[in-house]
Amino acid sequence: MKLILLGAPGAGKGTQAEILCKKLGIPTISTGNILRAAIKDGTPTGLKAKSYIDAGALVPDEVIIGIINERLAQADCQNGYILDGVPRTIAQAEALERAGIAFDAVVSIEISEEEILRRMSGRRVCEACGSSYNVEAVPPRVEGICDNCGGKLIQRKDDTPETVRERLKVYHNETEPLVDFYAARGLLKPVQVADSKEATSRKILDVLGIGK
Ligand code: AMP
Repeated sequence: MKLILLGAPGAGKGTQAEILCKKLGIPTISTGNILRAAIKDGTPTGLKAKSYIDAGALVPDEVIIGIINERLAQADCQNGYILDGVPRTIAQAEALERAGIAFDAVVSIEISEEEILRRMSGRRVCEACGSSYNVEAVPPRVEGICDNCGGKLIQRKDDTPETVRERLKVYHNETEPLVDFYAARGLLKPVQVADSKEATSRKILDVLGIGK
C-alpha cells in the first residue's frame, strides 16, 4: 500500500502516520523528521534546510526530491509506505509521478484553522525519535518523556505563533492545490478530524477500506 497523508500543519499527519504504520507494517516517510535529523547531525542537507524551517518556509523542491528518491529506494520501502508531509508542492507531486509511483490513496486530513492554532501551541515532539504528542489531546504516559523510546519531549522551534501563521500561509498557497491535483486523479479521500486520535484513525481506516 502506498499512501500520502495530506493536511495543514498540526492536522495530526504524524500521529496518524504512526498508527497506520503499526497497523499496516509499512514505514512512514516524514521529510520533516528526516530534515530535523539532518539538522541535528549537522549534515550539508541539514545546514541548507535549517534557515527555511526556522522561518516557516518550504525547503527547496530539489532538496526534497533528492531526499525522497533516496529514501524510497531503500529496502524497507519495497512493500509500500506512508508519506507524511510530502509532497508539499505540485512540483514535488509531479516528481513522484515522473518516478512512476502509483499511489493507492491520498488521505486529506481536514481541520479548522482555530483548532490548528490550539493544537500547535500544545505540540511536543521526541528529540530522539520524532514521535509527536500534544499536552492536551495526545499526552505521553509520563510528562516530558516519549512513550516509544524514553527520549526527551521538546517544543519545535517552528511551533511559535508567528512561525505557525507563516506555515499556514505557505500551506494555503503551496500545498492546498494538491487537494485538487489528487482529486482529479481519483485518489483523494477526505477525512474530517474527530475528537480523539483513535476516532480519526478509525475514519481513515474506513475510507481506506481496511478492517479495524
Ligand atoms: P513538518 O514536520 O512536516 O511540519 O515539516 C517541518 C518543516 O520542514 C516545514 O515547515 C518545511 O520547512 C520543511 N519541510 C518538510 N517537508 C517538506 C517538503 N515536502 N517540502 C518542503 N519543505 C518541507
